[in-house]
Amino acid sequence: MTPATAERAGVLSRLIDAEQERFRNLHPRAAAVWQEGRQHLLYGGPSHWMRRWAGGFPIYVDEANGAHIRDIDGRDYVDFCLGDTGGMCGHASDAVTEAAVRQLKRGATMMLPTEDSLWVGAELSRRFGPKYWTLTTSATDANRAAIRISRMITGRRKVLVFSGCYHGGVEEAHVEIRDGRVGLRNMIHPNGIDHDAVSRVVEFNDVAGLEAALAHGDVACVLTEPLMTNFGMIPDDPGFHQALRELTRRAGAVLIIDETHTLSCGPGGYSQLHGLESDIFVAGKAIAGGIPAGVFGLSRQIAERLWKIVPHVNPRERQSAHLGFGGTLAGNALTIATMRAVLEKVLTSENYRHMIATATRLATETRDLIAAHHLPWHVTQIGARAEIMFMPEPPRSGADVIAGRKPDLETLLHAFYMNEGILVTPFHTMLLMCPATSARDVEQHTAVFARFIDLLRQAGV
Ligand code: PMP
Repeated sequence: MTPATAERAGVLSRLIDAEQERFRNLHPRAAAVWQEGRQHLLYGGPSHWMRRWAGGFPIYVDEANGAHIRDIDGRDYVDFCLGDTGGMCGHASDAVTEAAVRQLKRGATMMLPTEDSLWVGAELSRRFGPKYWTLTTSATDANRAAIRISRMITGRRKVLVFSGCYHGGVEEAHVEIRDGRVGLRNMIHPNGIDHDAVSRVVEFNDVAGLEAALAHGDVACVLTEPLMTNFGMIPDDPGFHQALRELTRRAGAVLIIDETHTLSCGPGGYSQLHGLESDIFVAGKAIAGGIPAGVFGLSRQIAERLWKIVPHVNPRERQSAHLGFGGTLAGNALTIATMRAVLEKVLTSENYRHMIATATRLATETRDLIAAHHLPWHVTQIGARAEIMFMPEPPRSGADVIAGRKPDLETLLHAFYMNEGILVTPFHTMLLMCPATSARDVEQHTAVFARFIDLLRQAGV
């Protein structure tokens, strides 16, 4: 570390201390509840993810509505995190709430289908391409099932992913390339899994690397987002998807496209906009308006291969009945009812137009500030999602993110945002719009971001 970098790191560390102290002072009730929570909950909150906020502990929600959250300390936030996409329909959306209440009064879960499931299946095919769909309780579960089916039909073991990816609690995808070596992403514990045996990882947009990795003939499937959204946003290079499709076909590997986040690009996700042809399509999070749900759809060709192994049979024949995935609550009546409400009334073309226009405005105003102050940062915006990164150009791969990322600056921005009434996803600086996000919300972000730049200027960073 040069003396200049050490001095800068020291200044940033002091600024983070000051923002965390301001956060504690602004949130006395949350601080007390957080301490109490640690007596009964493993990591203080009901999920370990909830501790990862830059203030030092999470705010506690009193009520969330549209694009806003009010916390138990009486503070209001413009919510651009939106439950890390699970809340993309907007909090307490009328359509979802009404559908949920109506269905709850008629029974939530019966291990039996309701007729609405026909509408949902047909609509999923209309949006995402003709496929054979199954519901799960999370995107993680959908990815796990997709991997399982890929292995069943190919007889191969390895899952190929791109460095910097995240697909939920799917062990095979917890790998990354760092300093030229394959390791576990984000210090995740290997947990008894022999990742060498089950995973292969290459850099996103690296066609030659992909071709070499597939050449071994042992890859059951490639699991990817259409563009990466979990390590900062990494856009796909022109032609990358065409190469990916050709190479996976040639290698006999199943192509799983996970649109859990990129559902924010439009009603049919990124796939529909760019004509991507997945073998298995996955989505989750917002798809049932916040009721836990995932979906995966098989192309006809993949479904036929599966039906050969596990045929449609009369239940009196007990062979090959169990696929080894699912979940008792998957596809239950409540999920189906809320998914229908989302697809019919919330994630509509009209709402997407508004969400994308709002994201465009946010990205433009943020870029203008960056340019006016000659800062070496950039904003990527794709559909209703924007990402601010503290590096001059959008990364092309996980390696670019590792080389260019400024974690201390990100932590400072996130703590500052919270103190100024803005929430973004805690893992990187991603801002998502919902149908209720307004021009005023964007103005608030622009004003706060301008104050953040002032803070840095005054501290001489
Ligand atoms: N796929 C992608 C692209 C994701 O970003 C995530 C979660 N961030 C998942 C799958 C897993 O979703 P869940 O944790 O809801 O199962």
